Amino acid sequence: MAQSFRTHTSGELRASHVGERVTLAGWVHRRRDHGQLTFFDIRDRYGITQVVTNADEAPDAHAAAAPVRNEWVVQAEGIVRRRPPGTANAELATGEIEVAVDRFVVLNASKVPPFYVNEEQAGLDEAIRLEYRYMDLRRPTMQQRILLRARLTAAIRRAMEVAGFVDIETPTLIRSTPEGARDFVVPSRMQPGLFYALPQSPQQLKQLLMVSGYDRYFQLARCYRDEDLRGDRQLEFTQLDLEMSFVDEADVMDTVEAAVLAVTHEVVPDRPILHEPFPRITYADAMARFGSDKPDIRFGMELVDLTDAVRAVDFRVFADVIAAGGAVRGVVAPGCADWSRKQLDELTETARRHGAGGLVHLAVQSDGSLHGPVAKFLDVEAQASVRAASGAGPGDLLLVVADANARLGMEVLGRLRLELGTRLGLRTPGVLAYVWVHRFPMFTWDEEGKRWDATHNPFSAPVWDQADRMEADPGAIDAQQYDLALNGWELGGGSVRIHRRDLLERAFALMGHSVEGMRDQFGALLDALEFGAPPHGGIAIGIDRWAALLADVENIREVTAFPKTQAGRDLMMRAPAPLAPQQLGDLSLKIAESEPGGDTGS
Ligand code: ASP
Repeated sequence: MAQSFRTHTSGELRASHVGERVTLAGWVHRRRDHGQLTFFDIRDRYGITQVVTNADEAPDAHAAAAPVRNEWVVQAEGIVRRRPPGTANAELATGEIEVAVDRFVVLNASKVPPFYVNEEQAGLDEAIRLEYRYMDLRRPTMQQRILLRARLTAAIRRAMEVAGFVDIETPTLIRSTPEGARDFVVPSRMQPGLFYALPQSPQQLKQLLMVSGYDRYFQLARCYRDEDLRGDRQLEFTQLDLEMSFVDEADVMDTVEAAVLAVTHEVVPDRPILHEPFPRITYADAMARFGSDKPDIRFGMELVDLTDAVRAVDFRVFADVIAAGGAVRGVVAPGCADWSRKQLDELTETARRHGAGGLVHLAVQSDGSLHGPVAKFLDVEAQASVRAASGAGPGDLLLVVADANARLGMEVLGRLRLELGTRLGLRTPGVLAYVWVHRFPMFTWDEEGKRWDATHNPFSAPVWDQADRMEADPGAIDAQQYDLALNGWELGGGSVRIHRRDLLERAFALMGHSVEGMRDQFGALLDALEFGAPPHGGIAIGIDRWAALLADVENIREVTAFPKTQAGRDLMMRAPAPLAPQQLGDLSLKIAESEPGGDTGS
C-alpha cells in the first residue's frame, strides 16, 4: 500500500519482509517501557505490529516516542527484523517480526480514553460506550463485527446480482405504508400542515415496481418503525428487500434460500449449517412441535400432546381445560428428574411470566412411576399413557401446561423449551439452523379492536383455492406467507401478494377498512392492480439480525455502528433534540404541552 503515510498496514508484515524498510501509521495499542528500549504495539483495522525504539541506536526516534501514550496516532519508520528467539507471538499474524524504528512521528495526541480500547473491560456501562461510540468502534472486537457486517452486505449484493436481481432505490420520504408499527413522520415545509412518513418498509413501492415490469427487484433498504426497542429491534434498521414476478411461494423460498446459503458460506465459511435444504414447516406444525413460529431447531425436545393420555384423569385443572376445548401439552427435559425445588420454581416462574396459570412437573422415577404434586391423580394406567405419549423415561422430567387457550399453552411450552435448551447447553454455539415457517393464518382476531387483522402483511395473498371462503371463515384461511427463522430469531418474512383489486378490496374490507379509507391509504396500489399487475411475491430479511447471528452476539446494537439506546436516544449525537423556534416556525409547527426531553439518561 504505497502511500505517503505508510508503506504497509499493521496487519501485513511477515518474516518474508525481514530486512525491508517500512513505514507504519496507526494508533498506539499498548506501550511497554524497558528504559533503553520502548515497545509499541501499533494498531489499525488490519492488525497489530510491534515496533521498538532504542535510545542508543536511534536517540531522536526514542525521544520523539517518549511522551506517547495509548491511542495516540503515530507514524513509525524502520527496518523489519525477526523477533529475538523465544519472543515471537503466535497470537498475532505479525508476531514473528518487529520493526526497529529510526524515525517516530506523533501525528496526533489522544486524551486518556474513557475506557480501555486495548482490552475487554468487564461490566463496562453501555451508555459510556454509546456516548463515545467512535472510541468503542475502535476496539478490535467491534471492528471485527462491523467488518463482518460489511462482508455480509457485500456478499448479499453479489448473490443478488448472480440471481439476476436489479437494485432500485425507493424514496424514504413517502406516504405511510402500514406494517403494523407507528410511523416516523417528517413535516413538510413547502406544504404546511402536511407530513411525509418514513417507510416502515418499501412494501407498496416494490409491488408497484412489479406492475412496472422490474421483475427481481432488490434493495438494502433502510426502514423506520416507531416501536418499543428490544435487543433485536432498533427504530431504524436495514433489510434485504426483494420482490419477484410470476412466482409462487416455493419459487421465492427457493431463490432466497440459494442466496442465503451462498452468503452464509461466504461470510462465515467455518460455521456449520445444520440443515440443507432448510426444513419447511407449516405454522401449525411449528407451534405444535416447538411452541414458536420462529423455532430454534438446533435441538429436539419437541412438545408432546398429552390430552388423550390424561383425558380420563380426575384432576380438575386438566378436566376443565379439556372440557373447554383446550389441550394438555408437555415437554420432556431429559435427565432432569432430580432438579431441585429452586430450579422447578424458576421454570414455573418462566411459565407464569409468559401467561400460564401454572406448571405441572412430573419426574420419572427409576421404576417408571411419576413423581410430583399432581402424580397422585394419575393411576398406573394413566402414568403409562403419559410415559408413552411423551416418550419420557426414567430420569427425565416432564413439564406439563394445560391451557384452554391452546396457542398460549404451546407458546409457554415453547419458552420453557428454549430455557431448558439453554440450561442444558443444547443451543450449540456456532451452528446455524435456518428453517422456513409458512402457511400462516391469513387473519388474526384482534380482541381489542374487535376485528380481523392481517397476521403479517395486509397485502399477503390467501392460498389461492381458499380465497372464495375468505368472508365465510376468515380464521381458517391460510396466507401464502413464509418466514425465515435462524436459531430462534425471526430473520425475515414475506409473501405472495394479492395482485387483483377485487380480492385485495375484499381482504381490506374484512379487516374493517372503509372504501374511502382504502382509497386514501392504498389508492395508488389499488389503481395499479387494474393496469396489468402480474402475480408477484417477495420477502424482506433483516440485515441487523442476520449480522448479529453471524457475529454470534445477542444484541443488534453490537453490529450497528451507531445504534440508539433502548429509549431511542443517540447518546453521541444527542438525538432527538429540540428544534429552534425558527425551525418550528418554518415548518408551521407548535409544541403542545410537555417540554421536549433533556439529553441525559438512556
Ligand atoms: N414488507 C415486509 C416487511 O417489511 C416484508 C415483505 O412482505 O416483503 O416485513
